[in-house]
Amino acid sequence: MNCSKVKTSLPDLLFAPESVAAEVRAHVENCAECGKELKELRATMAVMETWTVPEVSPYFDTRMAVLLREEQQAAPAGWLERMRSRLLFGNHMSLRPLAAAALALLIAVGGGTYMGFGGFQPKKPPVVQASPVIKDLQSLDENAQLFQQLSSMDQDSSDNGGGPGNSL
Ligand SMILES: [Zn+2]
Repeated sequence: MNCSKVKTSLPDLLFAPESVAAEVRAHVENCAECGKELKELRATMAVMETWTVPEVSPYFDTRMAVLLREEQQAAPAGWLERMRSRLLFGNHMSLRPLAAAALALLIAVGGGTYMGFGGFQPKKPPVVQASPVIKDLQSLDENAQLFQQLSSMDQDSSDNGGGPGNSL
């Protein structure tokens, strides 16, 4: 009876001692190495028995599902809606037609670059790579610049009444 053969029987010795041959049991009792191995195995099993899976709150799944649904619905609609209302009902009421055109252009350009990826692919919901907040800020910044340019053009033509713009 050698040690390596006995070691394969150690789990049996731990869980069903009666199934293990008497000579194996005798070896473990007399062999320091195999006795130590059995002791370690027993200690490991004892630790595993005390370990319990932490209980998950019964409401976790429900709350998670609600949060996910809210995020999915809020993220894409949010920035576009706010941009549209800012453009159409903001401080620049006189620029409304231009603003609407600019918005249409922005949407066309945005949609175009998205559709351009890899030719004719089935249309998928747009993948938001940057944070929606950052995109929102970027588009608001672009709009602010556009309004600034339009305002200065408007002022130029009215200041020198019949200037270069109107002489034609
Ligand atoms: Zn041994």
